[in-house]
Amino acid sequence: MKELLEEAKSLNRNLLEWRRFVHKNAEIHTELLLTTAFVMGQLKEMGYKPVEICKSGVLATISGKKPGKTILLRGDMDALPITEETDLEFKSETGNMHACGHDFHTSMLLGAARLLKNHEDEIEGTVKLMFQPAEETLTGAKLMIEAGILENPKVDAAMMIHVFSGMPMPSGTVVFAGSGAISAASDWFRINIKGKGGHGAMPNTTIDPLNTAAHIHIALGEINSREIDPNDTGVVTVGAMHGGVTSNIIPDTAYLQGTIRTFNSETREFIKKRVVDISKGIGKTFRCEVNVILAKPCDSVLNDKELTRSAFKYTRDLLGPEQALDMEAVTGKVQRMSASEDFGFLSAKTATLMVGMAASVEKDGVIYPQHHPRVLFDEKVLPTGAAVYANTAIEWLNNHS
Ligand SMILES: [Zn+2]
Ligand SMILES: [Zn+2]
Repeated sequence: MKELLEEAKSLNRNLLEWRRFVHKNAEIHTELLLTTAFVMGQLKEMGYKPVEICKSGVLATISGKKPGKTILLRGDMDALPITEETDLEFKSETGNMHACGHDFHTSMLLGAARLLKNHEDEIEGTVKLMFQPAEETLTGAKLMIEAGILENPKVDAAMMIHVFSGMPMPSGTVVFAGSGAISAASDWFRINIKGKGGHGAMPNTTIDPLNTAAHIHIALGEINSREIDPNDTGVVTVGAMHGGVTSNIIPDTAYLQGTIRTFNSETREFIKKRVVDISKGIGKTFRCEVNVILAKPCDSVLNDKELTRSAFKYTRDLLGPEQALDMEAVTGKVQRMSASEDFGFLSAKTATLMVGMAASVEKDGVIYPQHHPRVLFDEKVLPTGAAVYANTAIEWLNNHS
């Protein structure tokens, strides 16, 4: 399907317009009112019958003349609660920012929708287009699964693309990280500490929860350095620590919040248990009541071996060997990322593949990272992304009928 790339390039004006509209109107969580309406409008214009299957979650389906399997293409649409600091002319006007590039995914998937329409007759089976909300909170994919996106017809394979700022390869390079777990599983925790407040001048009459919080914070850092196999890896980050209001008052309570990232389920369970045990143990030592809440579990994205191999071949044939990179073949190991992706919820149900795409922009000698208020992404990659989405779907279906 070499012509797909040329066709995608001819859509460039639309791709830019879609990306910029979504960027300017950045919305977060499942509150994607403008974005969803815009995406549904565009899909209808192309001849689709999109359905909002859950709040701000849109499904559009296209089937060819011949029967076959079903592949799902996913693009997430949510932004982050960050105030944008770029000087783009289409800078966000909402106080939220597309600092993770999901505006690209939305535009690229719309582009793929158009390309698939152009080639409707050649599709051997069904393609489901999943326009997803709330990826950043790791909750949207689950909502769409619960709304039935993987059924009727049943999805046999699913693929997503994520653009990245700061990848050490030329912009537009499509990166296959390897097979197996390629994103980390994520668990959030909150540690509530209850002491007994009082006068700062008389700590002996109080039970100081801040002291306990400080010891817990330091002790959690030891899990990684002292208890995890050096060949394995895990992250325990405390991202928030709160308690107290002023100098001379010992507060009643304090809390810590953080996240755990792991790549295998044994380590995941071990760290979760240690976070609880250590926190409670230190609470006991310093006479505070401690309870730990674990929340928002998200599984790793698992790249299916066969799907990864086939999609890499289709992409290399489409773009040429320079622009399609098999990291596992080049470096001899799977390139995992410690970030999480709620596409992992699909991995538990069907064969999945996450593909990365380099899209860095250097400005004044700096490449800002993902989630930074000044991050920029390279719009030149939009046609490539649209073509890779559509090409993977058509080729995979035609080769697996
Ligand atoms: Zn993100
Ligand atoms: Zn993202």
